[in-house]
Amino acid sequence: MALSTDNSPMSRAWRAEAVHGCSLLAVALLLGWAVGHVYAALMLALLLYLFRQLLNLRALGQWVLRPKKEELPEPGGAWGEVFEQILDLQRRNRKRKRRLAGILSEFQASTAALPDGAVVLSPRGQIVWFNNAAQALLGLRVPQDVGQRVPNLVRHPAFTSYFERAEFNSDVEVPSPINPDVTLSFRVIPYGNGQRLLIVRDVSELLRVETARRDFVSNASHELRTPLTVLRGYLDMMDGDSGEGGRLQAWQAPLTEMRTQAGRMEALISDMLKLARLEADVVQSRQDVVDMPRLLAGVVEAGKGLSRDRHKIKAEIQAGLQVYGRESELHSIASNLLSNAVQYTPEGGEIALRWWSDDKGAHLAVRDTGIGIAPADLSRLTERFYRVDAGRSRDQGGTGLGLAITKHALEHHEGKLQIDSTLGKGTTFRCSFPPHRRHQRAALAANS
Ligand code: ADP
Repeated sequence: MALSTDNSPMSRAWRAEAVHGCSLLAVALLLGWAVGHVYAALMLALLLYLFRQLLNLRALGQWVLRPKKEELPEPGGAWGEVFEQILDLQRRNRKRKRRLAGILSEFQASTAALPDGAVVLSPRGQIVWFNNAAQALLGLRVPQDVGQRVPNLVRHPAFTSYFERAEFNSDVEVPSPINPDVTLSFRVIPYGNGQRLLIVRDVSELLRVETARRDFVSNASHELRTPLTVLRGYLDMMDGDSGEGGRLQAWQAPLTEMRTQAGRMEALISDMLKLARLEADVVQSRQDVVDMPRLLAGVVEAGKGLSRDRHKIKAEIQAGLQVYGRESELHSIASNLLSNAVQYTPEGGEIALRWWSDDKGAHLAVRDTGIGIAPADLSRLTERFYRVDAGRSRDQGGTGLGLAITKHALEHHEGKLQIDSTLGKGTTFRCSFPPHRRHQRAALAANS
């Protein structure tokens, strides 16, 4: 056996073992020679050596079976060093285990203190662990509910379809399974090897505040409408008297301005109401197959009226291409985009409306050669009252709510809005509806 020359404990032990073995053989040789039985003496020495190895092996076997009860002997030599290394490994493992247990209990203590419920789920959706907040929010019991599938506990159809669809990039809000007055928001976060973390939050208060805000806007708009209608009536009457030779001829200019401002207020109130209804999703009118070619033809006509021949307006509408949704909301989408194109395109510009379908769904695009929008403004356009140039928007009769309405109406149709624009060159707004919403009536494609 080649013994290494380094001075590690293991090498020293092997050297000692070799010396020990050789000494045993030498003593056996001497004794055998003295008594005239060299082979028998050698055999006896080897048997003794083997017996010692077997004893150590047995001690190791017993210790492996019951490491806590049995103690490893200290036989010295190579076995002693091997035992020492095993005990050292065991000590290091214990230390690591203690450290991991510490981290785990710290993690559990911190998640237990979270105000949001956290539930760890197995790849099959079974509950593995949950914190105190989840226990309170979902009424979970230990240990009965550990191992249960979550959809068996939260049985609301919206949650079940969210959970089974496994597209976890959004939240779902459903009533609590233990208290219908409480609304819970669920979010699943996939991690590791198919595991999932379910985060549960009580959003009842947030919803109450949001509803109160919406109700306030909606009620205020309603309340403002009546006095405004009365004022508008009187203004119309006075306007009749302000013509040539009329009693209010001197008031003609202020009266025209008052009528314009009253018109703006009406448009504002009407858009605020529309938005409040869209946000609240209280528009309970049924969704139906909407004849988009007819609707768009009407929108294009209105756009031409607004343009008063100052622009070249083209339309390319796929015949028979219908969409499943709410007519009034789809009308808002198309007419907001087209009226914006007219408002923000200087005289002589071109505006093109296109309605078509492909394998990704049905699309409505409104392209103009207008003033364009700077990249920094693009992401904020759909915010309420966000205008790139507030003065210009007001002069054009804009309310600053058109694109916010468009965005909400599109959301109700699972649609997406894409805006491409180059400052000074023009803008294209593109609304895309998913394939399952479109409905093609047998007809030939036609352009108008
Ligand atoms: P507004 O009533 O002011 O038009 P919108 O919500 O419809 O409100 O639009 C928000 C802002 O987006 C507008 O004020 C305008 O600055 C910009 N915008 C919308 N459409 C266009 C367009 N086609 N070309 C250039 N800017 C546009």
